[in-house]
Amino acid sequence: MRGSTMPDLGIRNEMVVLQAIRLRPEGISQAEVVRRSGLSRQAVSQIVRRLIDRGLVQTHGTRANGRGKPSTVLAIVPGAQLTAGVHLDPAHLTVVIVDLVARVVAKRALEAPGDDPGQDVVRIAQALAALHAELQEQGVCTPGGDLASAFAGIGVAAPAGLDADKGVLLDPPWLPGWRNVPVVAALQEATGLPAVLDKDTNAALTAEKWAGSFPPEETVLYIYVGAGVGSAVAGDGTVHRGSTTQAGEIGHLPTGLDGPVCACGRRACLGLYTDASALLAGARAQGLIADDPAARVVDALAEVVERGRAGDAAARELIARHGRALGEALRTLIGIHDPHRIIIGGPYWGLLEELALPELRERALRSGGGDHGVRITSSTLGDDVGAIGAASLFLERELSPAGR
Ligand SMILES: [Zn+2]
Repeated sequence: MRGSTMPDLGIRNEMVVLQAIRLRPEGISQAEVVRRSGLSRQAVSQIVRRLIDRGLVQTHGTRANGRGKPSTVLAIVPGAQLTAGVHLDPAHLTVVIVDLVARVVAKRALEAPGDDPGQDVVRIAQALAALHAELQEQGVCTPGGDLASAFAGIGVAAPAGLDADKGVLLDPPWLPGWRNVPVVAALQEATGLPAVLDKDTNAALTAEKWAGSFPPEETVLYIYVGAGVGSAVAGDGTVHRGSTTQAGEIGHLPTGLDGPVCACGRRACLGLYTDASALLAGARAQGLIADDPAARVVDALAEVVERGRAGDAAARELIARHGRALGEALRTLIGIHDPHRIIIGGPYWGLLEELALPELRERALRSGGGDHGVRITSSTLGDDVGAIGAASLFLERELSPAGR
């Protein structure tokens, strides 16, 4: 992946062992690590010793191992490494610090990105310094030291289009100031930490992976509901990015609904129903919410949802239509990817879920492509999935066998 060379086998084996231990936070016997990794007992034993020396893994007593001698139980030390995640979203800028199992240990929600990326980078660096100070006060981080001594690195999640390899935001929609911005280089310069960049959709799916939301062998389709809607796919524990990190851009997928012609020339594209701006424009046109250009998107959406919950038929229909359009798109995507599981999340899904999910499910699972038996669930990672995912991108690059 990105800029890395072929790893030597020793590092890869170490990643395989660490991953096996990490995926079982309650502890795993060394004998089972041997079975799961396919490595020799001797190799696992050497690697485990190194991981213990580095403080990433601890022993946790012993467990009976058939008729053989009891096997040592190993467990990850979640706080052994902290990583920063930055979610650049048109509506917000979130900075989190997560541990090795992608749990948030500290967080700052900042004002949305502005027109001056340089200023935004300064705000991010200041937030990281403040979080570092907070964690030192709590005794989580050792007193003194710089950011590089406290955090392994920074992952950045942003809307497409971007160049993940070069670490540059190219032309993200709804972030007009952020065109051709080398965000990775700028953050490295401002913080002294290594950084990586990827799309918000890929980041969110990586967060689910690190949080253990699905077994790594499953094919998983993730639907990200934010300012726009996007998708990501993982199989065998790897997120598929496509040739230019543009995989999963589904905003112009035709839904087959009876709708208007889109700017792209097709009819009834998904984004016409699911972009937050489109949904809010519909709500304003029907007088459901005030026409206040200064209102935050999340507040305006919450108002529409509130009206829907209170029984307003027009508000309910707008949100149900969001679900219906997404369900139609999923029907197509299920046929293409044949996933075991679909996870839906992103900053606005928590708001829309209650009124959108029933129609989404009904449409997505309509027969037409055979019974795939796919499970559709909502993300349990909440509104910060983008920022948690951003940090997970860095964990993935540093610590996952698939990320090498
Ligand atoms: Zn279109």
